[in-house]
Amino acid sequence: MDKVLTKNFNVNDMHRFDVAIENGAYSSLEKLFSMKPEEVIEEVSKSGLRGRGGAGFPTGKKWNFIPKDHDNPVYLVVNADESEPGTFKDRAILEKDPHLLVEGILITAHAIGARTVYVYFRGEYYRPWKRFFEALEETKAKKILKTPQYEVVVHTHRGAGAYICGEETALLNSLEGFRGIPRIKPPFPAVEGLFDCPTIINNVETLASLPFIIKEGANAYRKMGTRDCPGTKLISACGHINRPGVYEVEMGTPLASFLSNQCDGTIEERELKAVIAGGPSVPVLTAKEALGIKLDHESLLEAGSMLGSGGLIVMDETTSMPHALLDIARFFAHESCGQCTPCREGTGWIHKICSRIARGEGKEGDADLLLSVAKNMPGRTICVFGDAVAAAVTSFVTKFRSEFEAGTI
Ligand code: SF4
Repeated sequence: MDKVLTKNFNVNDMHRFDVAIENGAYSSLEKLFSMKPEEVIEEVSKSGLRGRGGAGFPTGKKWNFIPKDHDNPVYLVVNADESEPGTFKDRAILEKDPHLLVEGILITAHAIGARTVYVYFRGEYYRPWKRFFEALEETKAKKILKTPQYEVVVHTHRGAGAYICGEETALLNSLEGFRGIPRIKPPFPAVEGLFDCPTIINNVETLASLPFIIKEGANAYRKMGTRDCPGTKLISACGHINRPGVYEVEMGTPLASFLSNQCDGTIEERELKAVIAGGPSVPVLTAKEALGIKLDHESLLEAGSMLGSGGLIVMDETTSMPHALLDIARFFAHESCGQCTPCREGTGWIHKICSRIARGEGKEGDADLLLSVAKNMPGRTICVFGDAVAAAVTSFVTKFRSEFEAGTI
């Protein structure tokens, strides 16, 4: 497997421009600028690259949604608001190889005709922001932050710590200086986004994959991964494993081999109990389910879950599932933006019920009550957060029901 994203993670001072250049940074630009924007979009579409922020939407297709006949500026917004618990893979790119993202930004700016770019950082990500900002300043000073036709102006923006600002329309509201809450869609950002202009929003890892695709070609990228999910993916692994960290794997890698090879198994070889494969807003998998899946979008969908952001949380036999869900429920209740009643009230109720079950003071019927609250959330909210909460809660309660019933009095 070629390393698309982590090739230079172990190079000291890779954030410095001279070191980055020595290690191949910006070497895709000569070829890039010999290509017309539509050829770049075509190449990226051919590569099959899918968004790495969670939804897995094809990147080239997204870029093609920009209306052809408009007079407004086109904006590129980079989503670096990585806030899902257990997800810390974009942080690794920003800290260890920030020039890879700058190069990806230039490729995208050229492809979609964006002269102005905003990079929206999770508020707590001070060090990743600083590393990126310094790399950006050096690139500016070297006068390579441009396409053959125009200069590319890149702004960085640090959020204030709201998880929901990772939802793309909430992010746009926040950038515009409004409260960071999701907008009703349509219109979709590619048509009417930042300042009502066509806007492409891409995740850090998505853009960092582009230098390889341009330099080596779409076919080289497609050689890795699966037919529907080509390429590689960063997985941030944590929980009850011996070697937590950020790993680059080919899409379609079996989870069982990832756990034993990269993560060095569970702590003290304890039995695996459950796995959350894509951050807490995706359904949990039992050990049996998890050991049969592969790390790609289709395999996880088939197993009733999602790859999401690639935030892998491993739980061994010592885990109390009601306590695990309580942690997640507290997060959900805290981060609901409050616009939609089913989400605002539902997350609060779920948190309250989980708290009493975890204390051993649950009431008879609480497991069913959790399921009933969750059932009334999906499809009734402005953004997918409500659906995600419902799916996560339902999976915990149905798969580990006896533990939730044991916590009742
Ligand atoms: Fe806000 Fe929740 Fe509604 Fe999303 S679903 S807009 S987070 S209240």
